[in-house]
Amino acid sequence: MTIRVLIAPTLLLVAVAAAADDSRTREVIALERAGTAAIESGRFGDALAAFSRAAAVRPRDANLCFGAGVAAFMLAQDDIAQARFECALALNPDFLEAALWLADLHHRAGRLTDAISIYEDIQQRSAWTSKLQQKLDGWRKEQELQRRFREAHSKHFVALFERADDEPVARDVMARLEAAYRRIGQVLGAYPSRTITVVLYTRDQFDDVTGLAAWSAAAYDGRIQLPMGALEMPEERDRILSHEFAHAIIGIVGGRTVPAWMSEGLATALEPAAIPDKDARVVPGRVPLRLSELERGFIRLSSSDAEAAYVSSARAVRLLIERRGMSTIIALLHDLARGIPFARAFAQRLAMRYEDFAARIGTSQ
Ligand SMILES: [Zn+2]
Repeated sequence: MTIRVLIAPTLLLVAVAAAADDSRTREVIALERAGTAAIESGRFGDALAAFSRAAAVRPRDANLCFGAGVAAFMLAQDDIAQARFECALALNPDFLEAALWLADLHHRAGRLTDAISIYEDIQQRSAWTSKLQQKLDGWRKEQELQRRFREAHSKHFVALFERADDEPVARDVMARLEAAYRRIGQVLGAYPSRTITVVLYTRDQFDDVTGLAAWSAAAYDGRIQLPMGALEMPEERDRILSHEFAHAIIGIVGGRTVPAWMSEGLATALEPAAIPDKDARVVPGRVPLRLSELERGFIRLSSSDAEAAYVSSARAVRLLIERRGMSTIIALLHDLARGIPFARAFAQRLAMRYEDFAARIGTSQ
């Protein structure tokens, strides 16, 4: 009798603990499903919240860290993304996807050594493919090149360039970027808090490192990358530099879900002395491209399609600014950074359906 009295509460406690465990497991499963569904439908704010809550309940689950990392990456919350990917890898060093995402994050930030060392680790642990080898080779080449590069600094930028003779160009580039920083920062009401790197290449180096189409005049992937030849025409310098800086700040304000057409159109609209009619011009005999085809980057487009893509993008953004003003576009970017899917944020801010607007841009002159 005495023993039963002693045992009974213990059994009860075990049962309560098991029930609590069960309910925690169910909670984590529900949160993980909700997080995955949110990522699939582009609701990255919801995804980050769900995976973070799940990870708080089950901190030793590498998948939950990874899910939170992906969501944070898309929201351009890079410090959180890095910590979450590192958490996933600490819990499971063989987690290939987490390693690939973390390496990509380091590469975009210009931390080539970190990016390369993660790939070297993958090479030791996981199924290695020729595609991964190609990427590693490219990064090593880029690192070797940049080891030879010199650095010059201005208040908000650091320029990397190869030859001492190029220092005046680097200084000129940074002075123009500082001017763009003040001008565009004021228009968008946002200033990057981190130093932005600009890498000055020869055309061959630029082609080799970025692998971009021959029509590209510059690139932004976390750093501004420029072939110096693109700056030869003085009247083009401010346009190109301001355009690339605009991409940087659009990414910082809006995160990584801003559709390419909006980023390109806005960067074009923010070019100094943008000529409205020039940007709206439709290439004769060519129907403007549909916005739905221009949501990802333009890098795979041919030169003539790219020209049409820039025209359509500039036209779309110019129409939006005319209708609702720049402040609405900025509010829309902030919505995206909070993780609201583009179509929903667009409908709320612009008071029309994105599909209707996109169809109009794609078909009308
Ligand atoms: Zn651009």
